[in-house]
Amino acid sequence: MDETLSADPIRQNRGVGREVAVVGAGAVGLTAALFLARERATVTVYEAGTVANESSGRAAGVCYDAFAAEPNATLGREAIERFRSFAQAGAPFTSCPYLWLAQTGDEPKIDLVRDGIRRMQKLGVEATELDASEVAERFPALRTDDIAVAGLTAGAGYTDTAAYTEWLADQARAEGVTIEEETPVQLATDSPAVETGEGRREVDDLVVTAGAHSKQLLAGAGVEIAMKPYRVQALVGEVSLGDWEPMVYDTSGDCYLRPHSEGLLAGDGTEPWEADPNGYDRAPNEGFSGSLGDRVTHRLPECELDVDRAWAGLCTATPDRDPLVGAVRDRVYVATGFQGQGFMRSPAIGRRLADDILGGDGIPAFDPTRFDGDESFEVREGMAVESS
Ligand SMILES: Cc1cc2nc3c(=O)[nH]c(=O)nc-3n(C[C@H](O)[C@H](O)[C@H](O)COP(=O)(O)OP(=O)(O)OC[C@H]3O[C@@H](n4cnc5c(N)ncnc54)[C@H](O)[C@@H]3O)c2cc1C
Repeated sequence: MDETLSADPIRQNRGVGREVAVVGAGAVGLTAALFLARERATVTVYEAGTVANESSGRAAGVCYDAFAAEPNATLGREAIERFRSFAQAGAPFTSCPYLWLAQTGDEPKIDLVRDGIRRMQKLGVEATELDASEVAERFPALRTDDIAVAGLTAGAGYTDTAAYTEWLADQARAEGVTIEEETPVQLATDSPAVETGEGRREVDDLVVTAGAHSKQLLAGAGVEIAMKPYRVQALVGEVSLGDWEPMVYDTSGDCYLRPHSEGLLAGDGTEPWEADPNGYDRAPNEGFSGSLGDRVTHRLPECELDVDRAWAGLCTATPDRDPLVGAVRDRVYVATGFQGQGFMRSPAIGRRLADDILGGDGIPAFDPTRFDGDESFEVREGMAVESS
């Protein structure tokens, strides 16, 4: 194991003698598994498909610390630091500034961006407010004449999420974690236990990090959680630009874009209704690439975009747009409901979840039992600047 990883403060052998089952080999489950194993727990990850089978293999990989409320600001900062230390140990991660903007005339978004920057600064996030001319000077590739206000943070970067998750799986295996792929599980209704095609296995702790499937999986064990999966889309294309920066989220145009090894990756908003994790359409909607492509070339006016591929995947919503992380009943834990920002916080949230299981404080604000599970709520945009 690389020294950069072993330098992490959590290593007190608190897991000795504990058997933990983690359901789901995405970024969140594998991070928790890695840190549990580093504390000498015996960890098995059960994955219905292969590593990064679902959202962690379909995400855009935009990562930033630009959160305007706690505990997200602290988690965002911790996550970026850990992505960077993981990168020194071989993980794919490229530091890149993140710019979020509101367009002229969009007064609600202008106010939200300004207010968010003030709040971030109070929380110690190194966010800077820029006007259009300052954006133009720093980032000549961008169209700026319609920008009313922008926020900028250097605490940001991007990754190939499938490759990063594979890297995490390798680190976890090197720490002794067993990853059982092609092994869908059901949960027992009574004790912490998993049921596979091979039979039932009792464990000391059960961790449900099954992404968009977490709700139905827990429901099978009699636990209701307040979460709804929803569908989002993204594309990758070649662009006729050299190296360019930054990553951009246009709050008025409802789209984001970032540099990518093939040119550019972009995505847009939320389908505001509940999707079926077993039956959602993984292909993009008709017209998606054209509509998003127009917004991309509007922001990068010198670029010709040649879309190579586009896809859809699932994110997960909660009533207050904060995640559900912690115990849902004795020795049974969940982490889901990340509102499109789960990958970027996974290094911090997975670590806190592991700590919670081993007797630490977890993340009290994300306690999943703050909801009964039968709340009715609307699916709302994840990257929006309103609350986080
Ligand atoms: C198009 C798109 C773009 C996104 N962009 C970003 C972004 O830029 N930044 C960001 O932070 N987030 C982004 N997200 C959100 C991000 O992908 C998720 O928040 C994150 O990947 C969630 O990770 P996870 O480990 O919780 O879940 P997942 O990665 O979904 O992992 C859950 C795993 O559980 C497995 N599983 C399910 N049921 C069972 C079962 N019964 N038995 C065994 N295994 C099971 C699944 O196969 C899956 O592999 C994006 C999502 C999409 C779809």
